[in-house]
Amino acid sequence: LILLLFVLHTRGRFRVPASPVITGGIYTDIEQLYQAVPQLANVFRIKGKIGEGTFSSVYLAIAQLRGGHEEKVALKHLIPTSHPVRIAAELQCLIIAGGQDNVMGVRYCFRKNDHVVIVMPYLEHESFLDILNSLSFEEVRDYMFNLLKALKRIHYFGIVHRDVKPSNFLYNRQMKRYALVDFGLAQGTPDTKIELLKVIQSEAQQESCAWNKPQITLGSQVSVTARAPRQLVRQPAARTANKRPCSLSQTQIKQGQKRKEGPESLHVQRSVFGERNFNVRSSASQDNSTVKLIKQPRVTDIAARKILAKKKTTSAVTNGLVKKAASSYPTNVTCDCYAKDRVCSVCLSRRQQVAPRAGTPGFRAPEVLTKFPNQTTAIDMWSAGIIFLSLLSGRYPFYKASDDLTALAQIMTIRGSRETIQAAKTFGKSILCSKDIPAQDLRMLCERLRGSKTSFDISTGDGQINLSQEPALQAEIFNISDPALQTSKKHLQYQKPSCHERDGLVIRTSEKPADLGWDKVPDEAYDLLDKLLDLNPATRITAKDALLHPFFKNIKQ
Ligand code: ADP
Ligand code: MG
Ligand code: ZN
Repeated sequence: LILLLFVLHTRGRFRVPASPVITGGIYTDIEQLYQAVPQLANVFRIKGKIGEGTFSSVYLAIAQLRGGHEEKVALKHLIPTSHPVRIAAELQCLIIAGGQDNVMGVRYCFRKNDHVVIVMPYLEHESFLDILNSLSFEEVRDYMFNLLKALKRIHYFGIVHRDVKPSNFLYNRQMKRYALVDFGLAQGTPDTKIELLKVIQSEAQQESCAWNKPQITLGSQVSVTARAPRQLVRQPAARTANKRPCSLSQTQIKQGQKRKEGPESLHVQRSVFGERNFNVRSSASQDNSTVKLIKQPRVTDIAARKILAKKKTTSAVTNGLVKKAASSYPTNVTCDCYAKDRVCSVCLSRRQQVAPRAGTPGFRAPEVLTKFPNQTTAIDMWSAGIIFLSLLSGRYPFYKASDDLTALAQIMTIRGSRETIQAAKTFGKSILCSKDIPAQDLRMLCERLRGSKTSFDISTGDGQINLSQEPALQAEIFNISDPALQTSKKHLQYQKPSCHERDGLVIRTSEKPADLGWDKVPDEAYDLLDKLLDLNPATRITAKDALLHPFFKNIKQ
């Protein structure tokens, strides 16, 4: 594996072109990428965009190799505001852990100024949703085996992926090839073998300002200079708005760089450690003498996030709750939140729990949702369990929650409220739930959900409606007060178990469960699911043990 890094104008800064062509089309995106990293044009023909996230855009390109050979590659162009250490850590995960056991590898990396492009082998892959309901039971077993293989490998290196979900686990059904991608949120275990994840971890612990770090080297080939504050721990922007208490004045470090959203310069940095910023000083307020406790609105929509990220200098959390400094409240007074729609002063005075909290709500483990600070590789195993739950039930996304407490309530509806509360106790979290929700039998649950889907395809005149696009479960919670979770007015709804012929909908039967092996799902499948969805991270099955589970006993590998 050769890692080539083209470093040009190391100390230079990216300048917004005098007449930028920004119309938002794909063509101009490609043009801009060629412009930002001109050396790409020597090697690649960029064909089109294949992925666009909050933190990167991914393109399919043809690499022109010596001797006239061509190869398809994926170019991941990272958002220029990403922290250099974060970028280097992502690369280091790919370099060290990648390239085998279903973990994506890396071919090259290009950089010019703030723009970093990671070149990976291209793996053509299916959309999870498109194929979910045509997968045979055997394919599901293979899928899980291969996912667990990838997780075993990264966990061996002490990498916690933190964002395990179908869009980060590429699956080529025909070739039976798999690849775990996207280490953009990865963190290290205390004994991680990935040096840069240690940097991220210790920085997170020290609450230090990452941009004061002079230089970080990655192996002998990549050198990243941290000269401006960036996002070290990737977090949704809405949660990371505002500055952290830091000696470096915010106005000193205006960056003249271009953001993905538009050409305006970035006046406000993303925080380096997002979640900690929940309680921050308002950057708009010039008042440094009072520490303000701010509860930000929970915005999860990506578009809204971006807008929020842009506005964050001026808006300064207007609908937040502003209270006196934490220290002015006695700590031994009992919480008064229960059954009220307000957070009591005792709770407002609590210090914000510092815990990594990235990823996608529907895939987050209970300890992530409750912000347990010492998270381990077990959080990835939970996410694998959620994927397995989707595969067995034929529903994706299985949980669709806009915030953590809703996600937690949804977990309770499957795993039981008492069980969830009990498990949370083991890692020091107390959850209040006004209603007792029993745990469900996993086989019955999956068969019920699958039974209502697999045998039907609903089509209208103008195209197919895929019922599995609806989340399997929708729960709403009212009167939430952190840390007390209340579910007094909770609505729990299963998707309608049967489809009716109405409103011009035509119901037609598709593949029978028997053809795909769904009529004889062994108990081992549900036993493994149960062990992956163990509410207690300390006893949750590891990837290594999961691969040895009887469910995989005669797998052809
Ligand atoms: P992000 O951090 O923006 O989520 P990812 O690394 O997850 O970036 O890539 C986004 C999407 O791009 C993936 O979901 C996948 O569809 C596509 N993609 C990423 N890497 C590859 C690759 N090596 N081959 C093919 N497609 C890829
Ligand atoms: Mg991704
Ligand atoms: Zn309270």
